[in-house]
Amino acid sequence: MALVNEHFLKLPNNYLFADIAKKVNAFKVSHPHANVISLGIGDVTQPLCPAVLEAMHKAVEEMGSKDSFRGYGPEQGYAFLREAIVKNDYLPRGIHLDPSEVFVNDGAKSDTGNIQELVRWDNSIGVTDPIYPVYIDSNVMIGRAGVVQDGKWSNVVYMPCTAENNFTPQIPDRRVDIIYLCYPNNPTGTVISKEELRKWVNYALKNDTLIFYDAAYEAYIREDHVPHSIYEIKGARKVAIEFRSYSKTAGFTGVRCGYTVVPKELTAATISGERVPLNPLWNRRQCTKFNGTSYISQKAAEATYSPEGKEQVKEVIDYYMTNAEMMRNTLTSLGIQVFGGKNAPYLWVKTPDGSGSWRFFEQLLYNAHVVCTPGVGFGPSGEGYIRLTAFGDRNNCEEAMERLTKWLK
Ligand SMILES: *Cc1c(COP(=O)(O)O)cnc(C)c1O
Repeated sequence: MALVNEHFLKLPNNYLFADIAKKVNAFKVSHPHANVISLGIGDVTQPLCPAVLEAMHKAVEEMGSKDSFRGYGPEQGYAFLREAIVKNDYLPRGIHLDPSEVFVNDGAKSDTGNIQELVRWDNSIGVTDPIYPVYIDSNVMIGRAGVVQDGKWSNVVYMPCTAENNFTPQIPDRRVDIIYLCYPNNPTGTVISKEELRKWVNYALKNDTLIFYDAAYEAYIREDHVPHSIYEIKGARKVAIEFRSYSKTAGFTGVRCGYTVVPKELTAATISGERVPLNPLWNRRQCTKFNGTSYISQKAAEATYSPEGKEQVKEVIDYYMTNAEMMRNTLTSLGIQVFGGKNAPYLWVKTPDGSGSWRFFEQLLYNAHVVCTPGVGFGPSGEGYIRLTAFGDRNNCEEAMERLTKWLK
């Protein structure tokens, strides 16, 4: 008899975006002529930039010729991309990485979910609340999260991030083995200052804690004082793994490419206290379970670092951030409290008159025909908020804001 991994059965079977789709479909059935605008799901809308397209076409041609065809590539990623990452994403910020510390992948979701395989099942984990659901769910699947009690997992330390604490998670007053941080943050769109991030690195150094740092929205940072990488903080190489992705940076959500940085100094302990470097372990894990990202995707990623590529990628990010600014201004002028949206493509909006996330979701849908994401779907501290994305077409964002204004005025 094959016994199922029963940890999977503990996962809540309501998937947030499926619940949203159900409600939106019900609305569309009863309002067949309504033009519904979605500012809900966090996917990009603008096409790949010309430099990326050109590189992909070229790579496809290479694959079609006997001399330049490529089969399996290195599991860790091609040297041309790992070197470009080190040179373009880190060196200009004074961070020296070796290409062997960079592992190219098929997007950050895989590795933010898989990374927890490197640590024992009985480590404690800490997350900011609200949170990108992958971090907790991947730990649930392996049995590390415990059981759900009142919407919270028993072995997970929740660090609330709300308007009351200015979205600054408080450092736990006890040791936690693994901490997940995501900055700029999805879903709140807020950022962490260097001073605050330094506190986390120091906490990790002191408590022998591992930090999993998701920097998928790093390219959206506009303010100078906001750190782009956790390795800008002294000592972070000993305690932090960083995840990045071309998905939001360059519209690769359908192309698939990202990378994970596992510094050579980073170690974890065996039960008898021996220090074990995690870089070779992750390498071993990838070589066993992953056969590399497609050559075409990696060539596409490399093209984002050419002078034209950089310029074009920036243009699209500016486009989204102009949406964000316009949306922020409209909502603020309506007397609504808005957070985020300055260094991230997400606006975290306090529901007017303190209504619940789902209630405001329905009101917005029925009164303005606009879809948002209920904040409570990202964790208990998201109650009373909704998330809007700035990833839409300009016209749609403008129209959505006009409708909101008409409704709320
Ligand atoms: C979109 C996103 C990612 C990246 O996902 P990919 O698998 O690279 O497409 C990672 N982390 C967060 C928080 C995200 O929102």
